[in-house]
Amino acid sequence: MEIYKELKKRVEALGPGFAVRPVLKTTGCNGLCEKGPIVNILPDDIFYCRVRVSDVDEIFEKTILRGEVIERLLYLDTSTGRRVRSHKESEFYRRQLKIALRNIGQIDPASIDDYIERGGYNALKKALFEMSPELVISEIERSGLRGRGGAGFPTGYKWRQCKRVNSFPKYVVCNGDEGDPGAFMDRSIMEGDPHSVIEGMIIGAYAVGSKKGFIYIRDEYSLAVRNVSKAIEDAYSRGFLGRGIMGSGFNFDVEVVRGGGAFVCGESTALMASIEGRVGEPRVKYIRSTEKGLWGQPTVLNNVETWANVPVIIDRGADWFAAIGTDRSKGTKVFSLVGKVKNTGLIEVPMGITLREIIFDIGGGITGNGKFKAVQTGGPSGGCIPEALLDLPVDFDSLDRAGSMMGSGGMIVMDETTCMVEVARYYLKFLSEESCGKCTPCREGIRRMLEILEDICAGRGQEGDLELLLELSETVKEASLCGLGKTAPNPVLTTIKYFESEYLAHIRDKR
Ligand code: SF4
Repeated sequence: MEIYKELKKRVEALGPGFAVRPVLKTTGCNGLCEKGPIVNILPDDIFYCRVRVSDVDEIFEKTILRGEVIERLLYLDTSTGRRVRSHKESEFYRRQLKIALRNIGQIDPASIDDYIERGGYNALKKALFEMSPELVISEIERSGLRGRGGAGFPTGYKWRQCKRVNSFPKYVVCNGDEGDPGAFMDRSIMEGDPHSVIEGMIIGAYAVGSKKGFIYIRDEYSLAVRNVSKAIEDAYSRGFLGRGIMGSGFNFDVEVVRGGGAFVCGESTALMASIEGRVGEPRVKYIRSTEKGLWGQPTVLNNVETWANVPVIIDRGADWFAAIGTDRSKGTKVFSLVGKVKNTGLIEVPMGITLREIIFDIGGGITGNGKFKAVQTGGPSGGCIPEALLDLPVDFDSLDRAGSMMGSGGMIVMDETTCMVEVARYYLKFLSEESCGKCTPCREGIRRMLEILEDICAGRGQEGDLELLLELSETVKEASLCGLGKTAPNPVLTTIKYFESEYLAHIRDKR
C-alpha cells in the first residue's frame, strides 16, 4: 500500500496539462506472493517484483513516463535464470491455466466496474434470461465440475438433489472457512475477485430455487470479509442482488457470516451449525444437507473456488470446461504451492498435470538446489507423496489411490532434510488441537497417536509402535463421526507406507 500511495502522489502531481494520465489500481494477489510487492505496468506488461518505496521515483520517471525498463526489478525466472519483462513469459505462469483465478491480479477487487469490464455478470444475465433452472443444472452436470473443497462431489448432481426437494426456503452457502496450514486459495479469491463468488452463488440459487445465501468466512480473513462485503453492497446497488435481479422475476439476498476460526467449522454440518448460531460441531450425516441443511431446510454448500468456476462454465459452456482436465476430474485446480520450492505462490493448473510438472516446472525445483523428498497434498488430513510418485497425475482419483487427497488445494513441498516422522507428528498435533472432541475415536485416538509419535521423535520409541499406530489409524478412520477424524490418520499412514525406514531408524537408534 505504501508503494501505491507514493505512486499516487506522483500521478497527482502531474498537473492538468499532462496528455495521458496513468491510472493506478490495487489488485489481489496474482500468484507470486513471495515476490511482492509487485508493480505491473500496462499495456506494456512490465512486471516488477520486490519493489521498495525507494524504487518508486525511478519507476515513475523511467518506466511510467518514458517507457524504459529497469532490468534489476524484473522478475527473475528461476527455471531459466533469466529476467523476463512480463511475468507471462516465465515458466511459473506459462504452465498455468487460470479459470477460477481469471481476474485476480487484473482487476481492483473493490471495483464492480472492473469486474463487469471483464465480462462479469454476463453469465448471470445468460442464466436468468436464456436458460431455465433445469438447463443451468444440466450445464453444470455436463461440465463435470466437482467440488473444490475436498471431497470432489459432483456439483451439478448436488444442485439437482437440492432442486428435487419440495421444501422452502432453500439456502445456498459458500464455505470460505479455509483452515489448512499453508493454504490460501480461497482467501485469495475472496480478496481478489469477490464478485466471481457472488455471481456463481446467484446462478446456483436460481438453479435450485433459493432466495437466500450465506458466505461463511473465517474470522482471521479480515481483508476477505471487507472485500466480499463491499462487493455485496455494490452488487445490490447495481441490481445484481435483491428483488427482481436485472429486471427478472428472481430475488436473492446474500450476507457474510464470520466464522470463529475453528478448523472443524470447515466441515459442512459444523459450518451450518455455526451459521445457525450453535456450537460449530459436526453431526452424523444420515440425511444429506441438500435435503436437510441450514435450519433443517434444503441447502447447497460449495466452497469458494467451486462457486468462482460457475460463471465461466455458464458463460463459455459445459463443453469448453469439460475439454480441460482428465476423464473424471474436469477443469483446473488452484493450489497454494509452498515449502521448499523456489517459486512459492498461488497457482492454477489443469487437472491431470503431474506433481513433477508442478514442483519442478512451475515451482522451479527445490530451494538451494536440494533434493526433493515428499509433497504433502490435501491439507493436514492429506498424505505425503514420495519421489517415486512424482509422475502421478494430479486429479481426485489418483491422489486418493496414493493415500492422499486433493483436499482444498494445499501443496507443501519437502526436501531431503525433512524428517517425515516429525511431519506426521506436526499434523497430528494440529488435528488433535482442532478435534472438537465430540466423538471418542477422534478425540482419544488422535491424542494417543500423537503421544506415540512424540515418543518416537524424542527417542523413546518402542518395538510395536508402528503396529499400534496402524491399528489406531484404522479405528480412528472407521469410527470417527466426521471427515476430520476419518482422514486424520492419513499423514501417519502415508509416512509409514512410504518412509517406514525413518520410523524404524528413530525407534532402533533412539534418536
Ligand atoms: Fe469432532 Fe473429531 Fe468427532 Fe469430527 S471426528 S465430530 S472433529 S471429535
